[in-house]
Amino acid sequence: MPKKGFFTTNLHSDRQDSPEHGVLHKAIHPSVAYGYEDARHLAEVFQGKREGYNYGRQLNPTVTALQNRITKMERGTASVAFATGMAAITSTMLSLLKSGDHLIASVFLFGNTNSFFTTLERFGIDVSFVDATDVSNVAAAVKENTRAVFVETIANPATQIADLEAIGGLCGKLSILYVVDNTMTSPFLFLPRSVNASLSINALTKYIGGHGNALGGTVTDTGCFDWGLYPNILDTYKVDDHSQWGITQIRKKGLRDMGGALGPDAAHHLAVGSETLPLRLTRACDNALALAKFCEAHPRINRTFYPGLKSHLQHQRAGRLFKKYGAIFSVELTDKLDCFDFLNRMDTVVSSSNLGDNRTLGIPVAHTIFHEIGAERRAAMGIPDSMVRFSVGIEELENLLENFEKALV
Ligand SMILES: *Cc1c(COP(=O)(O)O)cnc(C)c1O
Repeated sequence: MPKKGFFTTNLHSDRQDSPEHGVLHKAIHPSVAYGYEDARHLAEVFQGKREGYNYGRQLNPTVTALQNRITKMERGTASVAFATGMAAITSTMLSLLKSGDHLIASVFLFGNTNSFFTTLERFGIDVSFVDATDVSNVAAAVKENTRAVFVETIANPATQIADLEAIGGLCGKLSILYVVDNTMTSPFLFLPRSVNASLSINALTKYIGGHGNALGGTVTDTGCFDWGLYPNILDTYKVDDHSQWGITQIRKKGLRDMGGALGPDAAHHLAVGSETLPLRLTRACDNALALAKFCEAHPRINRTFYPGLKSHLQHQRAGRLFKKYGAIFSVELTDKLDCFDFLNRMDTVVSSSNLGDNRTLGIPVAHTIFHEIGAERRAAMGIPDSMVRFSVGIEELENLLENFEKALV
């Protein structure tokens, strides 16, 4: 019998726990609280001795079904869902780090994650931002109190690819927690567990939800890390076998205490969106490759940043690790072209900050999402003023090409 594939597993996941009336989609359960005929059962749920629901901030059946889907996609052991991708990142890091710890992060990071890590510094966590495209920079930054390394798969907007495998090897050797933000690739293009990542984070808002109509985020335990070696697990959560310690602490501290819970309506939208992830992302990646090649050859464009191009510094790494090269690319325009005029001449491509939508979106990066960070950090992150980022959608390629042709005058 062939192994169940990505589509099959995902499409049929909601029918696994005998759903009411045989529904094919997990129902949207809006109830915040749950009643018990026997008050002892309520107590047992609180004490973790019985499976069940007690309060919507911690658990909801619709959200549980989505968590199970993501766990299967990631081939992990368990996932916790949050209201946004940022809630997943902040809650994970705040529940696993404490003051006096050291964190190594890629210098090429989603702007808000970068901003959050500077907040961690205000709480006494020492953060080193390094060029994570080469493991030697990560290795050189390791200190005695280094607790975690945090990288993204494909960084936004200049599409640098972290030295994912080698960092996994380093973290494994030193027993350091390895957190990978898998948003740009999603578990369809890349499984962080294949490079020994401990936790995989997905902003479901982007490719997994895919329609720009719901926010959400998850953290998945890949099962690769031995939580018995992690010094920050609280005694309360050191019950049963090591494998559950980390995710339990994230669920209790990060979700229950910090409260960034995902709502059941959003969970439903994200679950439905996820059903077509492989179809959408395959087409978007193919469109992105064609557009990036067109831009690279165009005289009005100085540089094109896309892992699928031979000129990309980590092109081979991307080809080895990812199923496709992603659906994000950026261009640096020549002086002859103003980035605002360029975008304004397009009509199919929408000027918008989101990514992972079915529609193609473009944004002048330095003036918007990387404005607050300042010119100096932008230079360090490789973001020129004339950079425009595209999140490529699933329109007909000829319509997108026509838009680029007419805008590049
Ligand atoms: C968008 C994004 C996030 C944050 O997700 P939100 O749902 O918008 O909070 C985190 N990481 C990456 C790489 C992203 O692109």
